[in-house]
Amino acid sequence: MHISENVSLRDHNSFGFDISAEHFCSAKSLEEIQEALQWQKKHNKPLLVLGGGSNTVFTRNVDGLVLHVAIDQLTTEHNGNNINVYAGAGVSWHQLVKQTVFSGQYGLENLALIPGNAGAAPIQNIGAYGKELCDNLISVDVLHRETGETTTLNRKECDFDYRHSIFKTPAGADFIVLGIRIHLSPQDKPVITYQALKDAMQNRPSTAREVFDQVCLMRQSKLPDPKVIGNAGSFFKNPVIPCQQVDTLRKEYPDLPVFPYSNTECKLPAAWLIDRAGWKGHRTGDVGVHNKQALVLVNHGGGNGQQIAILADEIQKDVKQRYRIHLEREPTIY
Ligand SMILES: Cc1cc2nc3c(=O)[nH]c(=O)nc-3n(C[C@H](O)[C@H](O)[C@H](O)COP(=O)(O)OP(=O)(O)OC[C@H]3O[C@@H](n4cnc5c(N)ncnc54)[C@H](O)[C@@H]3O)c2cc1C
Repeated sequence: MHISENVSLRDHNSFGFDISAEHFCSAKSLEEIQEALQWQKKHNKPLLVLGGGSNTVFTRNVDGLVLHVAIDQLTTEHNGNNINVYAGAGVSWHQLVKQTVFSGQYGLENLALIPGNAGAAPIQNIGAYGKELCDNLISVDVLHRETGETTTLNRKECDFDYRHSIFKTPAGADFIVLGIRIHLSPQDKPVITYQALKDAMQNRPSTAREVFDQVCLMRQSKLPDPKVIGNAGSFFKNPVIPCQQVDTLRKEYPDLPVFPYSNTECKLPAAWLIDRAGWKGHRTGDVGVHNKQALVLVNHGGGNGQQIAILADEIQKDVKQRYRIHLEREPTIY
């Protein structure tokens, strides 16, 4: 395992920001991660764990060690009607979805084309088109960066919620994900509850492969490809607010879309709030809001992370003022 100095992270973040890491290493096994942690402690350097960099916004150069987790182990166990797959943290998420769906192992088809690696998938419990990672997750293997102990957290211990898990709290912030275990099915019964997906499939019975293809098509038509225009996907979470507040808002905005969340809370589409506030297609210098998807902040080429953070701040303030709703940021801001 080699630790390099002054490494550009341009190819390690989907915004394409050309910032540098003081030290960088790519670890392909548990032993290499342990070696990297020993080095980091010996040299008393801060540590930043990175997967594919598709949910990370770098606003400055990184002091210390960037540990790129690249364990690419992939194993499958068949047990009667159950298929259990273990994916190392460095496995590409979309490749995992594609490989499983194409080989008759169903369950991840709705989550096609989400960028990044398997190791980051539990961090925010990735979700799209009516499914979340936690629907298929069995457990997560982790290493505690301070104690050096390895352990396995079951689904309940991961405390998953909408774009949330234990890894986003102080109780889980010191864990490095080594790999995830998921259950899939040989039965081709895709989940088609998400309205846009239902409409696209025209309410007819469909296969998981058709759902996979349709999700890919819809994502490609709506979301900018980070290789062409830098972005981190949705920049804000959909806010969950008391249903009473919705009644007040609806007086001013009768067409406000609302989704049930709990008995007392409702979920609102952040994209609608931002779009209605006039931000879609907005541009300040080389950063802006995508012209087809108001939730996606973009780097038109020469932008930087500080400019993205300022723009995000302006949007949050405007949304707060207009609707009295706080928008929470989704990516990790460094
Ligand atoms: C075009 C686009 C579309 C997207 N669409 C969706 C979507 O539909 N649904 C969705 O949920 N997300 C979406 N995302 C966000 C992103 O793809 C996911 O959050 C993904 O899981 C991030 O993976 P990554 O490996 O790139 O994470 P990174 O950006 O590398 O890391 C994200 C966070 O996880 C931590 N982390 C990464 N690896 C590990 C590890 N092994 N152990 C511990 N911590 C770790 C990092 O420190 C960081 O805090 C989208 C992003 C883009 C660019």
